[in-house]
Amino acid sequence: MDFGFSDEQNLLRESVIKLMERHAGPEMIRRHDRAQTFPYELYDAWVEAGLLRLPFPEEYGGLGGSAVDLAIVVQEISRYSADFAMAFGGSVFCGLNILRKGTEAQKAHWLPRVMSGDVKLAIGISEPDAGSDVGALKTYAQRDGDSFVVNGQKLWTTGAGLKNSVISVYVKTDRTVHYRKGMSMLLIDNNTPGVELRKLEMLGRRCIGTYEVFFRDVRVSEDRLVGGEGGGWDCLMSGLQSERAVSAAGSCGAAQAIVDLAASYARERKQFGQMIGGFQAIGHMIADMQTEVDAARMLMWRAVWLVSHEQDALREITMAKLFAAETYAKVANMGVQIMGGYGLNAEFDMQRYFRDARSATIAAGTSQTQRNLIAGLMGLKAK
Ligand SMILES: Cc1cc2nc3c(=O)[nH]c(=O)nc-3n(C[C@H](O)[C@H](O)[C@H](O)COP(=O)(O)OP(=O)(O)OC[C@H]3O[C@@H](n4cnc5c(N)ncnc54)[C@H](O)[C@@H]3O)c2cc1C
Repeated sequence: MDFGFSDEQNLLRESVIKLMERHAGPEMIRRHDRAQTFPYELYDAWVEAGLLRLPFPEEYGGLGGSAVDLAIVVQEISRYSADFAMAFGGSVFCGLNILRKGTEAQKAHWLPRVMSGDVKLAIGISEPDAGSDVGALKTYAQRDGDSFVVNGQKLWTTGAGLKNSVISVYVKTDRTVHYRKGMSMLLIDNNTPGVELRKLEMLGRRCIGTYEVFFRDVRVSEDRLVGGEGGGWDCLMSGLQSERAVSAAGSCGAAQAIVDLAASYARERKQFGQMIGGFQAIGHMIADMQTEVDAARMLMWRAVWLVSHEQDALREITMAKLFAAETYAKVANMGVQIMGGYGLNAEFDMQRYFRDARSATIAAGTSQTQRNLIAGLMGLKAK
């Protein structure tokens, strides 16, 4: 058993840390969070450093990195900002979906554009009446010759409003069959005529943004259909696995940043003539936080290791997503408690970590649905 990274992976990790130190200092992150603006200059720096090429095979111009390499990058970006990490993760996991389910022509068209940063990818599954119950989605694509006409609405679409965003939109193409057979996936530019976007006021992830997207008679040519007509469910399932693995890595990175912030504050802050970290109540809280973050990270590394060895990892990815998200939200809550009033003050970073953390147990599937899935895999499925 080997718990270490290779030399290349250590170099990769150090290079991401250096890049983030250079381009995403604390003031820059605070400025974008306050203004709710996206750090395009940072995204360009990721592209320049080849990070967007990392997980794609060399034959398509990528670097052929593994799921472990990808998790290293996401974890380090998320230490600085889970909000920013989602922008990287969104393009990567939707791009990997095109790699798995697209035709050769689609891969040749889209993958270079994702790697060069010419397009960013977002995912549109959820709708007002279709959250955990994905099969209830109503957005409909009517075939019309060699194109589709899309009508409907998506909700909570992360990053849909960024410049040059292309949304992987899940639609019904046949309402008469079971949703697993009647669902398809279309790649739709966010500036296509008939697409309307509204950025939602949310607690966290303010920079990448969470959007409501309306589709009114949006014409989409059939070469944007990925996975074939009726192949949407397969696309969705394979995409969700990578989304959840990436999301687990992001949760671990941000959770570690919270522990570091809380521990450093507890060493500095003095009350009753001594550092508050010396009070057992606070010291034990931080010890528990670090232990749980390490446990979450172990589950995450196991899951991405299995993925990188092409082994079935549905159960392990789901467990990692569940535990990492719950741990992230829990340590963020404890981090605020440790900092007292300062934890809630906008001049300190803990409140931003706390706000961003809250969505982890909801986005990419709630903790309850992860538990349903794990229990189901253990033969405990409701009839
Ligand atoms: C910040 C953020 C970003 C997001 N980004 C995206 C995105 O980019 N693209 C996208 O498509 N979606 C996105 N989502 C949507 C997200 O996937 C959904 O919010 C999530 O799947 C839950 O759906 P819902 O909010 O409608 O809650 P509901 O499904 O209505 O659930 C409400 C509550 O009921 C529980 N519940 C529901 N069904 C069951 C069940 N069978 N058993 C037990 N409990 C159940 C849930 O766990 C939850 O606690 C995002 C959400 C957030 C908060």
